Amino acid sequence: EKQILTAINASTDGLWDWDMTTDHVYMSESWKKMLGYGAGELEHHFNTWKRSIHPNDFARVIQALYEHIDGKRERYQSEYRLKNRNGHYIWVKDIGSISSYDQQGKPNRVTGLVTDITDYKKLEKRLLELAAYDELTGLRNRRECTKMFDQQLGQATRTSSTLAIALFDLDLFKSINDRYGHLAGDQVLKTISNLLSSNIRSSDFLFRWGGEEFLLLCPYTSLKEMELITNKLRVMIKETVTKFEQHDITITASFGLACYPKDGQAQNELLLAADSALYKAKSQGRNCVCFINE
Ligand code: GH3
Ligand code: MG
Ligand code: MG
Repeated sequence: EKQILTAINASTDGLWDWDMTTDHVYMSESWKKMLGYGAGELEHHFNTWKRSIHPNDFARVIQALYEHIDGKRERYQSEYRLKNRNGHYIWVKDIGSISSYDQQGKPNRVTGLVTDITDYKKLEKRLLELAAYDELTGLRNRRECTKMFDQQLGQATRTSSTLAIALFDLDLFKSINDRYGHLAGDQVLKTISNLLSSNIRSSDFLFRWGGEEFLLLCPYTSLKEMELITNKLRVMIKETVTKFEQHDITITASFGLACYPKDGQAQNELLLAADSALYKAKSQGRNCVCFINE
């Protein structure tokens, strides 16, 4: 037992052992150290642990523990936040199982190990961001768009409301790359993305759909309202100057609009409608807003 304890305290994992009859909890030195406490600190009581759990995680942690005790899960396992001595939260992974039963066969002791996974959680958050956001513009990417579009379409269907979309594309963007170089093109994309982000309503969603194409998703918005919104954006884009080296670069954009339920029920149908409208805007001379059935 002594050797095992030495090994456990030498590792960064924390051992705990809960006596369910008395609510006394043995906590290894490494358990306390993980939270910034010394060996003699902290009351060895079940409540000490419970009080340290982040309020938003509390219910599911306790549920996971009792599902194991009640025999619904083979072991107790949970990832949650624990408050350390400074009042900050660290992320932990906690795994345990019943280690003893009373004479009636009821569990009376649970033992487990806690691991600090704060760094891993930070990395996970960063990876999730990288997967969702476009690096150049900081806008959400096409994958996120498809997800959000589905969600919003579901909501529009349930609430019998309209959902408007605008697919828009910068005009003759290739000529900017050709004339001033690719870095200038990148700068234009950043300037326009910032402009758009700060001029849409907080209830709307903007995505980088592809190279120089964007998609704006507007819940509870009619086609008429969408026309006003996008015309405002169109004028703003036209009046915005991107400074690159000694050049003042301006650009315009063409917009194709579609609206649920008028132009389609499914995401694909609506995207197709917006794409046809965008094609029409391009063929009508660009720098304009179009829909398919005017
Ligand atoms: P149109 O008005 O018909 O849309 O003409 P366009 O020149 O904008 O259209 P086209 O599709 O021919 O060209 C789009 C260009 O956008 C081609 C591609 O090299 C460029 N592009 C796409 N993504 C990026 C990017 O991230 N940075 C830069 N600099 N250019 C990009
Ligand atoms: Mg273009
Ligand atoms: Mg394009």
